[in-house]
Amino acid sequence: MPNHDPYVLMTSDAKSKISDSKLIRGALALRCVPADDMYVVHAVETAKGIRQQVVIDRQYTTLRSGDNNAVGQWIRLSENDAHIHHFSLASRPGTAIGFDAFRRMVPGVMDPGNTLNIVVTHDPSIPSELKEVGITEFVGWLISRDQVYPLQLEIEPDEIGLGQLSGKWPIELLATNSVMVVGCGSIGSSAIESLAGYGVGRVELVDPDRLLWHNTLRHILGPESVGRFKVAAMEDYLAKRWPSQQVAAHRLNVVNQAHYLAPLLKGVDMVICAADGIGPRRVVSHLARHAKKPLVMACVLDGGAVGEIVRLRPTPRFGCLLCLRRHLSDHGAMDAEADQELGYGTGHVHRPMTAVPPDLRYIGTLAAKMAVATLLESIHGDHTQQLPGELATVGLRPIGDLSAPFDISRACDIRWSSLPEPRPSCPTCFP
Ligand SMILES: [Zn+2]
Repeated sequence: MPNHDPYVLMTSDAKSKISDSKLIRGALALRCVPADDMYVVHAVETAKGIRQQVVIDRQYTTLRSGDNNAVGQWIRLSENDAHIHHFSLASRPGTAIGFDAFRRMVPGVMDPGNTLNIVVTHDPSIPSELKEVGITEFVGWLISRDQVYPLQLEIEPDEIGLGQLSGKWPIELLATNSVMVVGCGSIGSSAIESLAGYGVGRVELVDPDRLLWHNTLRHILGPESVGRFKVAAMEDYLAKRWPSQQVAAHRLNVVNQAHYLAPLLKGVDMVICAADGIGPRRVVSHLARHAKKPLVMACVLDGGAVGEIVRLRPTPRFGCLLCLRRHLSDHGAMDAEADQELGYGTGHVHRPMTAVPPDLRYIGTLAAKMAVATLLESIHGDHTQQLPGELATVGLRPIGDLSAPFDISRACDIRWSSLPEPRPSCPTCFP
């Protein structure tokens, strides 16, 4: 007999069909998925001789696969300690009871003959103190004429997805917010996925490019999306993975189509820029400041040695990207904007990527974290989300030979700095 540990899975619809049936027992039809050693309830006898198909959402492709070749039975119990027996049997793996003992405990069970049968028992009278220790209303059994084993039975919960975070993370607040992500490459796509996971209600994706073969190693998207526009493929990805996420995709080049970007900025709460290159980063810094929107800019520098995430807020206390770069060059730091263009010509030359995929995802996730912290602090007044500074320099594969603030010498070190004040001559800070 089995030394494996098969699972029975039921969607919430299967649970309702059994619970709501006027019968006290009926037939079950199950799909068997041998590779994963599981059975999925796909039809329930709800009235004498009437079998109803169970709703299994399209996204559960494995639950919808398998062969319709397993039969079973469901039985309603009352005033019965069968589920307590199930609990104690299941806590001692490999133990079983005889079929006759099982039949005395669960009257009405069909004789399985020479086959294996699956039985689901439903005891709606389990008191709450027993539920607290793990005794459930539904349990599964694998029965043969010799022996009966307890089966693991898993039922689709009422609440799945982001709703599970309710009361633990401010999903209701963040659902009212929107973030624009400019640049949907390796860092940007990770930031987008993180925003969805944090529960930000709406994202506006901006990128003019297609996903090509060399991108797939470092991108959330894979080979299935090669050739597609990144924004459209990301929109489809989110629809599958984060179905409650609202998404708008904009196939825009922010440098030569900046006039389209400005009105879009009015409709969002903040911006993340993960675009490569001097031009797009300067344009986004300028337009976000003009639109009075906070902006988080993320990139990796010096061939993947350090990550840089800067939060630019439209306040007289802090200057813009240009003011920061001028301040740093006055203090002898590397020109981080020029570093962004290393290896580029003016055409379609792709910079040889040096940062490894998880480092880029790490920077993208951290950028999203900083954006979400900004929303929570500035819009929703959650001061636990105050950041230690405006500029984070992150050690990835640091060599330690750069000047401050890039002189990180250890991997995973995060150094926080402030930003200089706006320069009086700055065309972005004082247009
Ligand atoms: Zn400035």
